[in-house]
Parts: sequence; C-alpha cells; structure tokens
Amino acid sequence: MRVILLGPPGAGKGTQAERITKDYEIPHISTGDIFRYNIKNNTELGKLAKQYTEKGLLVPDDVTNKIVEDRLSKDDCKDGFLLDGYPRNVVQAESLGKYLENKGLKIDHVLNIIVDRDELVKRLSGRRVCPSCGATYHIVTKPPKVEGICDHCGEKLIQRTDDNIESVLKRLEVYEDETKPLVEYYGKLNLIRNIDGNKPVNEVYKEIQALIGDEV
Ligand code: ADP
Ligand code: ADP
Ligand code: ZN
Repeated sequence: MRVILLGPPGAGKGTQAERITKDYEIPHISTGDIFRYNIKNNTELGKLAKQYTEKGLLVPDDVTNKIVEDRLSKDDCKDGFLLDGYPRNVVQAESLGKYLENKGLKIDHVLNIIVDRDELVKRLSGRRVCPSCGATYHIVTKPPKVEGICDHCGEKLIQRTDDNIESVLKRLEVYEDETKPLVEYYGKLNLIRNIDGNKPVNEVYKEIQALIGDEV
C-alpha cells in the first residue's frame, strides 16, 4: 500500500504515521525527519536545509525530490510506503508522479487530515519531541509520564526550534499557498480521502483504518 499523508503543520500526520506504519508494516518516510536528522549531524544537506526550515520555508524542490527518490528506491519500499510531509507543492507532486509512473507504481490513498486553524496553533505550541527516538508529545493532550522525559527512552524532551509562534504562522501561510492546492490536484485523481483531524488521536486513527481497510 502506498499512502500520502497530507495536512497542515500540526494536523497530527506524524502521530498517525506512527500507528499506520506499525499496523500496516510499511516504512514511514518523513522529509521533515530526514532534514532534522541531517541538521543535527551537520551534513552538507543539513546546512542547506537549516536555512529554510528555521524560517518555516520549504527546502528547494530539486533537493527534496532527489532525497525522496533515493529513499523510495530502497528495498524496504518495494511493497509500500507512507509519505509524511511530502509532496508539499504541485512541483513535488508531479515529480513523484513521474518517478512512480516510470516504475509502473501508483499511490493508493492521499489522506487529507483537516484541522481548525486555532487547534493547529495550540498543537504546535505545545508539541514536545524526543531528540533521540523521535516520539511526539503534547504538554496538555499527550504529556509524558514524567514531565519533560521521553516514556520510551528516558531522553530529555525538547521543543522543535521551528515550533515558535513566528515560524508556526509562517508555516501555516506556506501550507495555504503551496500545499493546500494538492487537495484539488489529488482530488482530480480521485485519491483524496478526507479525515476529520480535530477529533482525539484514537478516533482519527479509526477513521483512517475505515478508509484504507485492513489489508496489510
Ligand atoms: P504534524 O506531523 O502534522 O505536524 P504531529 O503529529 O507532530 O503533527 O502533532 C502535532 C501536535 O499535536 C503534537 O504535540 C501531538 O501530540 C498533538 N496531536 C496530534 N494529534 C492530535 C489529536 N488528534 N488531538 C490532540 N492533539 C494531537
Ligand atoms: P510539520 O509536520 O510541522 O509541518 P515537517 O516536519 O513536515 O513539519 O517539516 C519541517 C520543515 O522541514 C518544513 O517547515 C520545511 O522547511 C521542511 N520540509 C519538510 N518537508 C518538506 C518538503 N516536502 N519540501 C520542502 N521542505 C520540506
Ligand atoms: Zn525517546
């Protein structure tokens, strides 16, 4: 199964991706995670990406498309994958479309997670992440068992540097201008599955399961 998770920053893409990839046994490909990993390790890609991510802007398409193609060509993607945060504009969607077409492959579902704007701002401002295992928390809706400490690995939780209000507002603006047009783009291809993402995590996940079925 080949799935794309679409939705604004804070919609819960990463949270739902954790469950989907576990239950459906497909790799989770998050371009945001790939960029953050490279930034943390100060690679050439990281140095370039940082200039964009810290401002809430998109990393250039040619760079992003190449990274995703490299990742999709790995063996673990041959029976399916979950793309989280990619594609983020029409140029990326077309690039992905061509790549898959050349391989005779197709996307099965584009899960469009819809969340009210006020809720997005609340979610992003309260988000905390584990720098070691990548687990995501929220100070109000999903606090760790011990304040500030990851339940899974005991690491100290951090706030992402781009989860400050200025960057959050910029990212929401970039979403409206560049990413939202993908709803129409994939709508024309009959791939859009709308999900009410305002509900609690478990209910959102149930809606997703109902839409994609339980084939694994
Ligand atoms: P995205 O990957 O779309 O940016 P995340 O999965 O990181 O979003 O979620 C953003 C924040 O909102 C996190 O702090 C997460 O714990 C919280 N969150 C995710 N889904 C829900 C939900 N359905 N209800 C309440 N809070 C949520
Ligand atoms: P969120 O889930 O909060 O939207 P992500 O982790 O998906 O955040 O992305 C964080 C940042 O990484 C983005 O603001 C952007 O700078 C960069 N990024 C992630 N995915 C892409 C992409 N497909 N194209 C360009 N830039 C991207
Ligand atoms: Zn952890």
